[in-house]
Amino acid sequence: MEFIAFTYVGNFISEGLIKEVVFDVFDEANRFFDENDVPLRFLYVGKLRLEPGYLIDIYTQEGKIRAYPLEALVDVLHAKLLHEIEERPDIKMDKIFALTTFPLVSRNPYFDFYERFLGIHETRLGLRIMVLSMKPFEPPELSVLLRELAGENPANGSKERLRASLELFKARLLKGVLHEIGHGFGLEHCNNDCVMNSPSSIEEWDSRLPGYCDSCFIRLKRAVEWSGFDPQQE
Ligand SMILES: [Zn+2]
Ligand SMILES: [Zn+2]
Repeated sequence: MEFIAFTYVGNFISEGLIKEVVFDVFDEANRFFDENDVPLRFLYVGKLRLEPGYLIDIYTQEGKIRAYPLEALVDVLHAKLLHEIEERPDIKMDKIFALTTFPLVSRNPYFDFYERFLGIHETRLGLRIMVLSMKPFEPPELSVLLRELAGENPANGSKERLRASLELFKARLLKGVLHEIGHGFGLEHCNNDCVMNSPSSIEEWDSRLPGYCDSCFIRLKRAVEWSGFDPQQE
């Protein structure tokens, strides 16, 4: 069995709801690996804390946002993974996966939708750092509904709409997580009804099945089973 250290970072209007989204997706991903006999599991290593000093202002079409530069985040994640590996010498783990509630930014100008959607991968001395922003998957009505429900007179049906919006958020995010895991094990984009087929719009993403096509799945399973296996040593 191989493990991927799992963490999340950032804040949301509601801390309780973000936890629900993050941990439901975490559980669903592990269930997917379990049910499909993939010897891979996420291992939660705690919420990541970033020093506020890292925050920078980014100017976008939607106005100013506060965000962490990717470079700083990757540094912190690398250090976290090294620490976790040291703490757990008995398990196989050389990857860390982080969900962020904020958009991913770097010194480049603000990413457009397509690029924002993609996760970030970086390899440092054989350790893989994966970061995926939850932001592009968030249904726009979610924060509106949350504010409405926190107010005096929420409209009829707001609670039901919030539930539906949260479920949509989780479904989108799970596919995004599976997509990045695929890349983490060397998969490239494909053209099938598959999480490895990257979409040009969020509607297209919603129409995708929450899993891999046969050829991507076989490749993933082989890559996981063979990962870290060094024939020289046999
Ligand atoms: Zn991709
Ligand atoms: Zn595929």
